Amino acid sequence: MKARFVLSAIVIAASWGCSSAPVAPRGDLLRSPPQYRQPLAGPIRTIVIDAGHGGHDPGAAHNGLKEKHLTLDIARRLRANLEEAGFTAVMTRETDQFIPLSGRPAVANRLGADLFVSVHINANHNRRVSGAEVYYPRVSAVSQSAKWPPAVRAAEVGMPTLTVKQILWDLVLGRTRSQSRKLASTICGSMKHGLQVSCKAKPARFVVLREAWMPSVLVEVGYVSNWQEAQHLNRSEYRASAAKSIAQGIVSYIREAGAQHI
Ligand SMILES: [Zn+2]
Repeated sequence: MKARFVLSAIVIAASWGCSSAPVAPRGDLLRSPPQYRQPLAGPIRTIVIDAGHGGHDPGAAHNGLKEKHLTLDIARRLRANLEEAGFTAVMTRETDQFIPLSGRPAVANRLGADLFVSVHINANHNRRVSGAEVYYPRVSAVSQSAKWPPAVRAAEVGMPTLTVKQILWDLVLGRTRSQSRKLASTICGSMKHGLQVSCKAKPARFVVLREAWMPSVLVEVGYVSNWQEAQHLNRSEYRASAAKSIAQGIVSYIREAGAQHI
């Protein structure tokens, strides 16, 4: 507990620019080598779309449907919608392929993408639960296996410990979190309208969100465990509407806040 408190104090002090903070100025810690564009500085151009699960990981499976197939289909449609709107959209997977969790935000980090959107389908043991949810990252512990933030090389850090890694990732999250929250609620508003479903924007500790260098959200399109929602998700028209709603939410967010964010 004590270590966590000290860590939080360091992060708060650093983000407030407190001169007595026991860390180097952020510009030194997070300076970008040439291969990384300075994050969050310009207009939004590149959006990475992550189709959840894949390969030997089917995700949720109920009512004859598998999450990995539904997410890939919706992600493909979302890409087409975003490309039509003039953005560069890149998918973490384009086939039924397994990608480890950390490898997903890593694609966006490597590209210097402006937004990261992961698409999932929900399930609950209570089969009556239905509706959409959009998650944004909650402050949480990074794992030992987490990569260093993209602008930092372990060799550049004096003491490349897990604590230092945590501090650096907390700085990244401090810069992106309010935008992630805004993006989540804008997508939710669009899904409510477009799909006529309930939608809540919530914080969560997901690795795919925690390790993204840019504003990031995870969209749970609906509950495959709910019979009626499974029937909807099984229809290509509904998946097309879901993709369109998510895309419209992203475009609204970019229009409202994107060009000037952070
Ligand atoms: Zn999932």
